[in-house]
Amino acid sequence: MSDKPLPFSVDVIRRAASEFETPFHLYDERGIRENARRLNSAFAWNPGFREYFAVKATPNPHIVQMLAEEGCGADCSSLAELILSERVGLGGRDIMFTSNNTLAEDYAKADELGAVINLDDISHLPYLAENIGMPETLCFRYNPGPLREGNVIIGKPEEAKYGFTREQLFEGYRIARDGGVKYFGLHAMVASNELDPSFFVETARMLFELVIQLAESHDVRVSFVNLGGGIGIPYRPEQTAVDYEVIGDGVRQAYDEMIVPVGLDPLDVLTENGRCMTGPYGVLVSKVVHAKDIYKKYVGVDACMANLMRPGMYGAYHHVSVLGKEDAAPIGEFDVVGSLCENNDKFAIDRPLPATERGDIVVIHDAGAHGHSMGFQYNGKLRSAEILVREDGSLQEIRRAETLDDYFSTLDFSGVGTAAVGQ
Ligand SMILES: *Cc1c(COP(=O)(O)O)cnc(C)c1O
Repeated sequence: MSDKPLPFSVDVIRRAASEFETPFHLYDERGIRENARRLNSAFAWNPGFREYFAVKATPNPHIVQMLAEEGCGADCSSLAELILSERVGLGGRDIMFTSNNTLAEDYAKADELGAVINLDDISHLPYLAENIGMPETLCFRYNPGPLREGNVIIGKPEEAKYGFTREQLFEGYRIARDGGVKYFGLHAMVASNELDPSFFVETARMLFELVIQLAESHDVRVSFVNLGGGIGIPYRPEQTAVDYEVIGDGVRQAYDEMIVPVGLDPLDVLTENGRCMTGPYGVLVSKVVHAKDIYKKYVGVDACMANLMRPGMYGAYHHVSVLGKEDAAPIGEFDVVGSLCENNDKFAIDRPLPATERGDIVVIHDAGAHGHSMGFQYNGKLRSAEILVREDGSLQEIRRAETLDDYFSTLDFSGVGTAAVGQ
């Protein structure tokens, strides 16, 4: 079987699996840092460029801090993500608050931190005014609706709950301008896990066009555009990674063609990626527990959908390697399953795999983003630990595994325990 390369050597994974109980998520510090540098360098032509890491992808302070050290800000969507970013030492312009259906208390925290608020709806203008007053800087999220095709994960823009329509956008800037807002941003996110670099160049063109119209018709000078996140990663072995240089160069060309000639330079270009920042640099490490042979053949591992729900939730492909058997010939097709009482608790379906035995280490690739963070406790499953492989090769536990005490800690057992069972 020609295997997809792992971000770690077999030895590192074995060492981690002997030191920590499976399942756990394992992240690669070097990979995360080098990738962030590649993205920054692709946009170095724009002096105001900044990537705001979408915290929801991997909400761990050590990861957010590492990315902050590489110059990234944090893109938050909830109170907890704001607090996490604050505790990492981020504040003010380091934080973009891109939320939707937002609670007043979340806005209040964003305001307290001086974060850039990215408004999701026109009705939030009076809501903001009532709750925190009009901020000095405000960004608006645009939903192009039928004017733009979406992609599979995010769906069609017109079916998506996010953002302002085109008319609302112009109206929103007018209200904000008259309400005393001084600095304006414009945001759109119309793709997720998109591997075609031209998609992001198109988004930049769409936003630049609006920036020009806003300057002409509303006398609003937009100071930054946020292209959103959504850069895809090659989950499948036959796919190739997006070349950030191609996106950076394409956006630069659009900038030179559209923004510079009309005197709207400088305009900061921002991104808020999650998946491509950490996804390929994390794996879920599990062990084979059982094999089962009925109408189909199954390999049962000690991880389940609670550790990585993407395959179960939207049929996402994650490559699976049996450690040390990467080059062994497959002996058949197997469903790789967890132990939830849900038949979609499968990491892979009909996947060619070599012979496995109990105790074999099974590595699920590309679990570094939207992996642990989507975890849940259904069926009494506990969220796993997160381990970081530092640049010097040492292993650091950056989140411990949940225990049964954690699981039971919110329950009230008082007054129970007297059920007369079997009498
Ligand atoms: C989820 C999300 C992101 C990150 O998306 P990725 O696909 O992980 O890059 C960025 N911005 C917003 C508003 C999001 O909801």
